[in-house]
Amino acid sequence: MKIIGVFGQQRGDEGKGRVVDMLAESCDMVARFNGGSNAGHTVVLPDGRELALHIVPSGIAHEKAVNIIGNGTIVDPIRFSEEIASIESLGITVTPEKLKVSSSAHLVLPHYKVLEEIRELGRSAQGSTKAGIADTYAAKAQRSGVRVERLLGSHDALLQVVRDGLNSVQMERKKHGLPPVDIENEVKIYSAAIVKLQPFVTDTSVYVNEHLAAGETLLAEGAQAFLLDIDHGMYPYVTSSSTTAGGVATGLGIAPTTLDRSIGIVKAVQSHVGGGPFVTEIHDEKLLDVLHGDMTTIDAEKGTTTGRVRRLGYLDITGIRRADMVNGTTELAITKLDWVPRYGKTIKVCTSYTYRGQTLSMAPDSAWALEKCEPVYEELSAWDEDITEVRSFSELPTAAQKYIEAIEKWTGLPVTYIGVGPRRDQVIIR
Ligand code: GDP
Repeated sequence: MKIIGVFGQQRGDEGKGRVVDMLAESCDMVARFNGGSNAGHTVVLPDGRELALHIVPSGIAHEKAVNIIGNGTIVDPIRFSEEIASIESLGITVTPEKLKVSSSAHLVLPHYKVLEEIRELGRSAQGSTKAGIADTYAAKAQRSGVRVERLLGSHDALLQVVRDGLNSVQMERKKHGLPPVDIENEVKIYSAAIVKLQPFVTDTSVYVNEHLAAGETLLAEGAQAFLLDIDHGMYPYVTSSSTTAGGVATGLGIAPTTLDRSIGIVKAVQSHVGGGPFVTEIHDEKLLDVLHGDMTTIDAEKGTTTGRVRRLGYLDITGIRRADMVNGTTELAITKLDWVPRYGKTIKVCTSYTYRGQTLSMAPDSAWALEKCEPVYEELSAWDEDITEVRSFSELPTAAQKYIEAIEKWTGLPVTYIGVGPRRDQVIIR
Protein backbone atom coordinates (compact mmCIF):
# COMPACT_ATOMS: atom_id res chain seq x y z
CA MET A 1 0.00 0.00 0.00
CA LYS A 2 2.00 2.95 -1.22
CA ILE A 3 -0.41 5.86 -1.41
CA ILE A 4 -3.26 6.32 1.03
CA GLY A 5 -5.70 9.23 0.78
CA VAL A 6 -7.90 10.43 3.62
CA PHE A 7 -10.90 12.57 2.71
CA GLY A 8 -13.81 14.12 4.59
CA GLN A 9 -17.00 12.76 3.01
CA GLN A 10 -19.32 15.37 4.47
CA ARG A 11 -19.02 19.06 5.34
CA GLY A 12 -15.80 19.19 7.41
CA ASP A 13 -14.99 18.46 11.05
CA GLU A 14 -15.40 14.73 10.45
CA GLY A 15 -12.40 14.00 12.67
CA LYS A 16 -9.89 13.50 9.85
CA GLY A 17 -7.11 14.65 12.19
CA ARG A 18 -7.30 11.64 14.48
CA VAL A 19 -7.47 9.14 11.58
CA VAL A 20 -4.55 10.78 9.80
CA ASP A 21 -2.63 10.90 13.07
CA MET A 22 -3.16 7.17 13.55
CA LEU A 23 -2.08 6.28 10.00
CA ALA A 24 0.85 8.72 10.00
CA GLU A 25 2.69 6.54 12.47
CA SER A 26 3.42 3.94 9.79
CA CYS A 27 3.88 6.27 6.77
CA ASP A 28 7.14 7.71 5.46
CA MET A 29 5.57 10.89 4.10
CA VAL A 30 2.45 12.78 5.17
CA ALA A 31 1.26 15.46 2.76
CA ARG A 32 -1.23 18.28 2.50
CA PHE A 33 -2.30 18.83 -1.12
CA ASN A 34 -4.98 21.53 -0.84
CA GLY A 35 -6.11 24.56 1.12
CA GLY A 36 -4.28 26.78 3.57
CA SER A 37 -4.36 27.64 7.23
CA ASN A 38 -8.17 27.67 7.09
CA ALA A 39 -8.14 23.93 7.73
CA GLY A 40 -7.92 22.59 11.22
CA HIS A 41 -7.08 19.26 12.72
CA THR A 42 -7.07 18.50 16.39
CA VAL A 43 -4.69 15.79 17.44
CA VAL A 44 -4.74 14.65 21.04
CA LEU A 45 -1.21 13.61 22.05
CA PRO A 46 -0.61 10.48 24.18
CA ASP A 47 -0.21 12.69 27.29
CA GLY A 48 -3.64 14.27 26.66
CA ARG A 49 -2.39 17.61 25.37
CA GLU A 50 -4.09 18.96 22.26
CA LEU A 51 -2.14 19.82 19.14
CA ALA A 52 -4.07 22.13 16.81
CA LEU A 53 -2.75 21.94 13.25
CA HIS A 54 -3.76 24.26 10.41
CA ILE A 55 -1.33 23.91 7.48
CA VAL A 56 1.28 21.54 8.93
CA PRO A 57 0.46 17.85 8.23
CA SER A 58 -0.39 15.58 11.14
CA GLY A 59 2.78 13.51 10.69
CA ILE A 60 4.64 16.28 12.55
CA ALA A 61 3.70 14.63 15.85
CA HIS A 62 5.50 11.43 14.81
CA GLU A 63 9.22 10.61 14.80
CA LYS A 64 9.51 9.06 11.37
CA ALA A 65 7.26 10.94 8.95
CA VAL A 66 8.51 13.64 6.62
CA ASN A 67 5.76 16.22 6.18
CA ILE A 68 5.00 17.85 2.86
CA ILE A 69 3.04 21.04 2.21
CA GLY A 70 2.36 20.51 -1.49
CA ASN A 71 2.07 22.83 -4.49
CA GLY A 72 -1.74 22.76 -4.36
CA THR A 73 -1.75 24.51 -1.01
CA ILE A 74 -1.33 28.18 -0.16
CA VAL A 75 0.96 29.34 2.60
CA ASP A 76 0.66 32.37 4.83
CA PRO A 77 4.21 32.93 6.19
CA ILE A 78 2.85 34.67 9.30
CA ARG A 79 0.44 31.90 10.26
CA PHE A 80 3.03 29.31 9.27
CA SER A 81 5.64 30.70 11.66
CA GLU A 82 3.04 31.05 14.44
CA GLU A 83 2.03 27.41 13.93
CA ILE A 84 5.64 26.23 14.06
CA ALA A 85 6.13 28.16 17.32
CA SER A 86 2.99 26.61 18.80
CA ILE A 87 4.05 23.06 17.78
CA GLU A 88 7.53 23.64 19.23
CA SER A 89 6.02 24.92 22.48
CA LEU A 90 4.73 21.36 22.98
CA GLY A 91 8.30 20.03 22.78
CA ILE A 92 8.06 18.83 19.14
CA THR A 93 11.04 20.04 17.10
CA VAL A 94 10.27 21.15 13.54
CA THR A 95 13.27 20.98 11.20
CA PRO A 96 13.61 21.28 7.39
CA GLU A 97 14.36 17.54 7.40
CA LYS A 98 10.91 16.87 8.88
CA LEU A 99 8.91 19.50 7.01
CA LYS A 100 9.08 20.60 3.38
CA VAL A 101 7.09 23.40 1.76
CA SER A 102 6.59 23.38 -2.00
CA SER A 103 8.33 26.17 -3.91
CA SER A 104 5.26 26.18 -6.20
CA ALA A 105 2.68 26.73 -3.47
CA HIS A 106 1.23 30.23 -3.46
CA LEU A 107 1.89 32.84 -0.80
CA VAL A 108 -0.93 34.56 1.04
CA LEU A 109 -0.17 38.29 0.85
CA PRO A 110 -1.48 40.54 3.65
CA HIS A 111 -3.72 42.57 1.35
CA TYR A 112 -5.62 39.43 0.29
CA LYS A 113 -6.78 39.16 3.91
CA VAL A 114 -7.87 42.81 3.86
CA LEU A 115 -9.86 42.22 0.66
CA GLU A 116 -11.61 39.30 2.33
CA GLU A 117 -12.29 41.29 5.48
CA ILE A 118 -13.95 44.00 3.36
CA ARG A 119 -16.00 41.48 1.40
CA GLU A 120 -17.25 39.87 4.59
CA LEU A 121 -18.70 43.24 5.63
CA GLY A 122 -21.00 43.42 2.67
CA ARG A 123 -23.74 41.54 0.92
CA SER A 124 -21.31 39.14 -0.75
CA ALA A 125 -20.20 37.79 2.64
CA GLN A 126 -19.66 34.03 2.53
CA GLY A 127 -18.80 33.41 6.17
CA SER A 128 -15.18 32.82 5.21
CA THR A 129 -12.31 32.37 7.65
CA LYS A 130 -10.77 35.73 6.60
CA ALA A 131 -7.46 33.98 6.05
CA GLY A 132 -7.14 35.34 2.50
CA ILE A 133 -7.72 31.90 1.01
CA ALA A 134 -10.15 32.84 -1.76
CA ASP A 135 -8.15 35.87 -2.88
CA THR A 136 -4.89 33.92 -2.95
CA TYR A 137 -6.43 31.19 -5.10
CA ALA A 138 -8.10 33.87 -7.25
CA ALA A 139 -4.72 35.53 -7.81
CA LYS A 140 -3.26 32.11 -8.70
CA ALA A 141 -6.02 31.57 -11.29
CA GLN A 142 -5.57 35.11 -12.63
CA ARG A 143 -1.82 34.43 -12.88
CA SER A 144 -1.02 37.42 -10.70
CA GLY A 145 -0.11 35.36 -7.63
CA VAL A 146 3.23 35.14 -5.85
CA ARG A 147 4.70 31.69 -5.28
CA VAL A 148 6.81 30.46 -2.37
CA GLU A 149 9.81 30.26 -4.73
CA ARG A 150 10.06 34.06 -4.48
CA LEU A 151 11.59 33.58 -1.03
CA LEU A 152 14.68 32.22 -2.75
CA GLY A 153 15.22 35.57 -4.50
CA SER A 154 15.46 39.10 -3.10
CA HIS A 155 13.36 39.56 0.02
CA ASP A 156 13.37 43.31 -0.55
CA ALA A 157 11.64 42.85 -3.90
CA LEU A 158 9.03 40.56 -2.34
CA LEU A 159 8.45 42.98 0.54
CA GLN A 160 7.87 45.75 -1.98
CA VAL A 161 5.08 43.60 -3.48
CA VAL A 162 3.62 43.26 0.04
CA ARG A 163 3.87 47.03 0.57
CA ASP A 164 2.27 47.82 -2.81
CA GLY A 165 -0.54 45.36 -2.13
CA LEU A 166 -1.37 46.95 1.22
CA ASN A 167 -1.20 50.44 -0.28
CA SER A 168 -3.69 49.39 -2.94
CA VAL A 169 -6.37 48.53 -0.35
CA GLN A 170 -6.00 51.47 2.08
CA MET A 171 -8.63 53.61 0.32
CA GLU A 172 -11.08 50.71 0.19
CA ARG A 173 -10.64 50.15 3.96
CA LYS A 174 -11.35 53.81 4.62
CA LYS A 175 -14.49 53.67 2.47
CA HIS A 176 -15.76 50.81 4.62
CA GLY A 177 -15.00 52.59 7.90
CA LEU A 178 -12.06 50.33 8.76
CA PRO A 179 -8.96 51.87 10.41
CA PRO A 180 -5.88 52.20 8.19
CA VAL A 181 -3.29 49.42 8.23
CA ASP A 182 0.13 50.31 9.64
CA ILE A 183 1.84 49.21 6.44
CA GLU A 184 5.48 49.39 7.59
CA ASN A 185 4.64 47.36 10.68
CA GLU A 186 2.89 44.71 8.54
CA VAL A 187 5.89 44.58 6.21
CA LYS A 188 8.18 44.08 9.22
CA ILE A 189 6.06 41.19 10.50
CA TYR A 190 5.95 39.60 7.02
CA SER A 191 9.70 40.04 6.64
CA ALA A 192 10.40 38.15 9.88
CA ALA A 193 7.95 35.41 8.88
CA ILE A 194 9.50 34.76 5.44
CA VAL A 195 12.91 34.35 7.08
CA LYS A 196 11.36 31.57 9.22
CA LEU A 197 9.69 29.93 6.20
CA GLN A 198 12.65 30.02 3.82
CA PRO A 199 14.66 27.01 5.12
CA PHE A 200 11.67 24.73 4.47
CA VAL A 201 11.29 25.58 0.76
CA THR A 202 11.74 22.50 -1.45
CA ASP A 203 10.76 21.20 -4.89
CA THR A 204 8.35 18.83 -3.16
CA SER A 205 7.08 17.21 -6.36
CA VAL A 206 10.57 15.88 -7.08
CA TYR A 207 11.04 14.94 -3.41
CA VAL A 208 7.78 12.97 -3.25
CA ASN A 209 8.27 11.20 -6.60
CA GLU A 210 11.85 10.18 -5.81
CA HIS A 211 10.86 8.82 -2.43
CA LEU A 212 7.85 6.96 -3.82
CA ALA A 213 10.15 5.42 -6.44
CA ALA A 214 12.42 4.29 -3.61
CA GLY A 215 9.50 2.38 -2.10
CA GLU A 216 8.36 4.84 0.55
CA THR A 217 4.71 5.28 1.54
CA LEU A 218 2.65 8.46 1.32
CA LEU A 219 -0.37 9.58 3.24
CA ALA A 220 -2.33 12.36 1.52
CA GLU A 221 -4.32 14.31 4.06
CA GLY A 222 -7.38 16.03 2.62
CA ALA A 223 -8.40 19.32 4.21
CA GLN A 224 -12.04 20.44 4.40
CA ALA A 225 -14.46 18.00 2.84
CA PHE A 226 -16.44 16.74 -0.12
CA LEU A 227 -19.25 19.30 -0.06
CA LEU A 228 -16.67 22.09 0.07
CA ASP A 229 -14.79 20.95 -3.05
CA ILE A 230 -14.53 23.75 -5.63
CA ASP A 231 -15.84 21.46 -8.41
CA HIS A 232 -17.90 18.77 -6.68
CA GLY A 233 -19.21 20.58 -3.62
CA MET A 234 -22.26 22.76 -3.07
CA TYR A 235 -20.97 25.66 -5.15
CA PRO A 236 -20.78 28.57 -4.29
CA TYR A 237 -20.70 27.53 -0.60
CA VAL A 238 -17.36 25.85 -1.13
CA THR A 239 -13.69 26.42 -0.50
CA SER A 240 -11.33 27.49 -3.29
CA SER A 241 -9.45 24.22 -3.81
CA SER A 242 -9.87 20.53 -4.63
CA THR A 243 -10.68 18.63 -1.49
CA THR A 244 -11.29 15.32 -3.27
CA ALA A 245 -9.10 12.46 -4.52
CA GLY A 246 -8.30 14.13 -7.85
CA GLY A 247 -6.67 17.00 -5.96
CA VAL A 248 -3.96 14.66 -4.66
CA ALA A 249 -2.35 14.33 -8.10
CA THR A 250 -2.44 18.01 -9.05
CA GLY A 251 -1.73 19.23 -5.52
CA LEU A 252 1.39 17.11 -5.03
CA GLY A 253 2.65 16.74 -8.58
CA ILE A 254 2.33 12.97 -8.74
CA ALA A 255 0.79 10.93 -11.55
CA PRO A 256 -2.99 10.43 -11.37
CA THR A 257 -2.70 6.72 -10.66
CA THR A 258 -5.40 5.32 -8.44
CA LEU A 259 -4.80 5.62 -4.71
CA ASP A 260 -4.14 2.24 -3.15
CA ARG A 261 -6.54 3.13 -0.35
CA SER A 262 -9.06 5.96 -0.34
CA ILE A 263 -10.39 6.30 3.17
CA GLY A 264 -13.59 8.30 3.57
CA ILE A 265 -14.08 9.87 6.97
CA VAL A 266 -17.68 10.05 8.06
CA LYS A 267 -18.91 11.60 11.26
CA ALA A 268 -21.67 9.39 12.72
CA VAL A 269 -23.80 12.52 12.90
CA GLN A 270 -23.58 15.54 10.61
CA SER A 271 -22.27 19.06 11.24
CA HIS A 272 -21.40 22.16 9.26
CA VAL A 273 -19.79 25.53 9.85
CA GLY A 274 -20.87 28.30 7.47
CA GLY A 275 -23.58 28.87 4.89
CA GLY A 276 -25.21 26.65 2.31
CA PRO A 277 -28.02 24.11 2.08
CA PHE A 278 -28.15 21.43 4.78
CA VAL A 279 -30.88 18.96 3.91
CA THR A 280 -30.85 17.08 7.23
CA GLU A 281 -30.31 20.11 9.48
CA ILE A 282 -31.90 20.07 12.95
CA HIS A 283 -33.72 23.22 14.07
CA ASP A 284 -35.13 21.97 17.39
CA GLU A 285 -33.44 24.33 19.90
CA LYS A 286 -33.81 21.95 22.84
CA LEU A 287 -32.15 19.09 20.98
CA LEU A 288 -29.45 21.43 19.66
CA ASP A 289 -28.59 22.48 23.21
CA VAL A 290 -27.82 18.87 24.12
CA LEU A 291 -26.02 18.16 20.87
CA HIS A 292 -23.71 21.19 20.98
CA GLY A 293 -22.09 19.83 24.15
CA ASP A 294 -20.02 21.67 26.72
CA MET A 295 -18.62 24.70 24.87
CA THR A 296 -15.63 24.91 27.20
CA THR A 297 -14.26 21.48 26.26
CA ILE A 298 -12.84 19.66 23.21
CA ASP A 299 -16.24 17.97 23.11
CA ALA A 300 -17.98 21.12 21.91
CA GLU A 301 -19.44 21.32 18.42
CA LYS A 302 -17.44 24.34 17.33
CA GLY A 303 -14.89 24.73 14.52
CA THR A 304 -11.19 24.07 15.32
CA THR A 305 -10.00 27.03 13.24
CA THR A 306 -12.94 29.44 13.38
CA GLY A 307 -14.35 28.71 16.84
CA ARG A 308 -17.80 29.12 15.26
CA VAL A 309 -20.67 26.99 16.59
CA ARG A 310 -21.54 24.20 14.17
CA ARG A 311 -24.89 23.63 12.50
CA LEU A 312 -25.97 20.07 13.27
CA GLY A 313 -28.07 17.45 11.55
CA TYR A 314 -28.72 13.80 10.89
CA LEU A 315 -26.38 11.50 9.00
CA ASP A 316 -26.95 11.88 5.25
CA ILE A 317 -26.12 8.77 3.23
CA THR A 318 -27.11 10.33 -0.12
CA GLY A 319 -24.28 12.86 0.13
CA ILE A 320 -21.81 10.20 1.27
CA ARG A 321 -22.67 8.06 -1.77
CA ARG A 322 -21.69 10.93 -4.04
CA ALA A 323 -18.43 11.52 -2.13
CA ASP A 324 -17.65 7.78 -2.35
CA MET A 325 -18.15 7.87 -6.11
CA VAL A 326 -15.90 10.90 -6.70
CA ASN A 327 -13.19 9.82 -4.23
CA GLY A 328 -13.15 6.16 -5.31
CA THR A 329 -13.58 5.36 -1.62
CA THR A 330 -12.34 1.88 -0.65
CA GLU A 331 -13.33 1.98 3.03
CA LEU A 332 -14.94 4.23 5.62
CA ALA A 333 -13.83 5.44 9.03
CA ILE A 334 -16.76 6.43 11.23
CA THR A 335 -15.99 8.95 13.96
CA LYS A 336 -17.98 10.15 16.96
CA LEU A 337 -20.07 7.01 17.31
CA ASP A 338 -20.09 7.88 21.03
CA TRP A 339 -22.23 10.92 20.15
CA VAL A 340 -25.16 9.05 18.64
CA PRO A 341 -27.10 8.46 21.93
CA ARG A 342 -27.30 12.23 22.47
CA TYR A 343 -29.96 12.26 19.75
CA GLY A 344 -32.37 10.27 21.94
CA LYS A 345 -33.71 6.72 22.05
CA THR A 346 -33.81 6.53 18.25
CA ILE A 347 -31.88 8.32 15.56
CA LYS A 348 -32.89 9.22 12.04
CA VAL A 349 -30.61 8.58 9.05
CA CYS A 350 -31.35 10.07 5.64
CA THR A 351 -31.07 7.40 2.94
CA SER A 352 -32.63 9.21 -0.03
CA TYR A 353 -34.04 12.58 -1.09
CA THR A 354 -37.19 13.60 -2.83
CA TYR A 355 -36.46 16.20 -5.47
CA ARG A 356 -39.17 17.56 -7.77
CA GLY A 357 -41.31 14.48 -7.27
CA GLN A 358 -38.44 12.06 -7.85
CA THR A 359 -36.59 9.85 -5.38
CA LEU A 360 -32.81 10.33 -5.46
CA SER A 361 -30.45 7.82 -3.85
CA MET A 362 -27.49 10.11 -4.52
CA ALA A 363 -27.28 13.83 -3.74
CA PRO A 364 -27.39 16.24 -6.70
CA ASP A 365 -24.27 18.27 -7.54
CA SER A 366 -25.39 21.81 -6.80
CA ALA A 367 -26.45 23.97 -3.91
CA TRP A 368 -29.35 25.16 -6.03
CA ALA A 369 -30.72 21.62 -6.35
CA LEU A 370 -29.88 20.71 -2.74
CA GLU A 371 -32.04 23.63 -1.56
CA LYS A 372 -35.02 21.86 -3.13
CA CYS A 373 -34.34 18.38 -1.70
CA GLU A 374 -36.35 16.86 1.13
CA PRO A 375 -34.83 14.14 3.29
CA VAL A 376 -36.32 10.63 3.45
CA TYR A 377 -35.40 9.08 6.79
CA GLU A 378 -35.05 5.61 8.21
CA GLU A 379 -35.01 5.31 11.96
CA LEU A 380 -32.51 3.26 13.95
CA SER A 381 -32.32 2.51 17.67
CA ALA A 382 -29.71 4.29 19.76
CA TRP A 383 -28.22 2.82 22.96
CA ASP A 384 -27.69 3.87 26.58
CA GLU A 385 -24.31 2.33 27.29
CA ASP A 386 -21.14 4.46 27.40
CA ILE A 387 -18.96 3.10 24.57
CA THR A 388 -15.92 5.34 25.08
CA GLU A 389 -13.84 2.53 26.61
CA VAL A 390 -14.93 -0.17 24.12
CA ARG A 391 -12.07 -1.33 21.87
CA SER A 392 -13.60 -4.17 19.84
CA PHE A 393 -16.62 -4.30 17.55
CA SER A 394 -18.13 -7.33 19.25
CA GLU A 395 -18.19 -5.51 22.61
CA LEU A 396 -20.28 -2.65 21.22
CA PRO A 397 -23.97 -2.64 22.18
CA THR A 398 -26.07 -4.43 19.54
CA ALA A 399 -27.73 -1.16 18.47
CA ALA A 400 -24.31 0.44 17.88
CA GLN A 401 -23.20 -2.56 15.81
CA LYS A 402 -26.42 -2.26 13.81
CA TYR A 403 -25.79 1.46 13.20
CA ILE A 404 -22.38 0.62 11.67
CA GLU A 405 -23.73 -2.34 9.69
CA ALA A 406 -26.55 -0.19 8.30
CA ILE A 407 -23.97 2.35 7.04
CA GLU A 408 -22.04 -0.51 5.41
CA LYS A 409 -25.21 -1.78 3.74
CA TRP A 410 -26.31 1.68 2.52
CA THR A 411 -22.86 2.60 1.14
CA GLY A 412 -21.63 -0.85 0.07
CA LEU A 413 -18.29 -0.13 1.80
CA PRO A 414 -16.56 -1.68 4.80
CA VAL A 415 -16.17 0.41 7.95
CA THR A 416 -12.60 -0.23 9.09
CA TYR A 417 -12.17 2.33 11.90
CA ILE A 418 -14.68 3.50 14.48
CA GLY A 419 -14.02 6.50 16.72
CA VAL A 420 -15.54 6.22 20.19
CA GLY A 421 -13.91 9.31 21.72
CA PRO A 422 -11.40 12.05 20.84
CA ARG A 423 -8.30 10.42 22.38
CA ARG A 424 -5.76 8.57 20.20
CA ASP A 425 -6.57 5.22 21.79
CA GLN A 426 -10.37 5.63 21.60
CA VAL A 427 -10.75 3.74 18.36
CA ILE A 428 -11.97 0.34 17.22
CA ILE A 429 -9.94 -1.13 14.36
CA ARG A 430 -11.68 -3.84 12.34
P1 GDP B 1 -11.28 17.58 10.93
O1 GDP B 1 -11.70 18.95 10.52
O2 GDP B 1 -12.01 16.54 10.16
O3 GDP B 1 -9.80 17.35 10.91
O4 GDP B 1 -11.79 17.43 12.41
P2 GDP B 1 -10.93 17.35 13.71
O5 GDP B 1 -9.88 16.31 13.55
O6 GDP B 1 -10.51 18.71 14.12
O7 GDP B 1 -12.03 16.75 14.70
C1 GDP B 1 -13.13 17.49 15.12
C2 GDP B 1 -13.36 17.24 16.58
O8 GDP B 1 -13.90 15.95 16.79
C3 GDP B 1 -12.12 17.33 17.45
O9 GDP B 1 -12.46 18.03 18.61
C4 GDP B 1 -11.80 15.87 17.73
O10 GDP B 1 -11.07 15.68 18.93
C5 GDP B 1 -13.18 15.28 17.81
N1 GDP B 1 -13.28 13.84 17.53
C6 GDP B 1 -12.72 13.15 16.52
N2 GDP B 1 -13.09 11.85 16.57
C7 GDP B 1 -13.93 11.73 17.64
C8 GDP B 1 -14.67 10.63 18.21
O11 GDP B 1 -14.66 9.49 17.74
N3 GDP B 1 -15.44 10.93 19.32
C9 GDP B 1 -15.49 12.18 19.87
N4 GDP B 1 -16.28 12.38 20.93
N5 GDP B 1 -14.81 13.21 19.36
C10 GDP B 1 -14.05 13.00 18.26
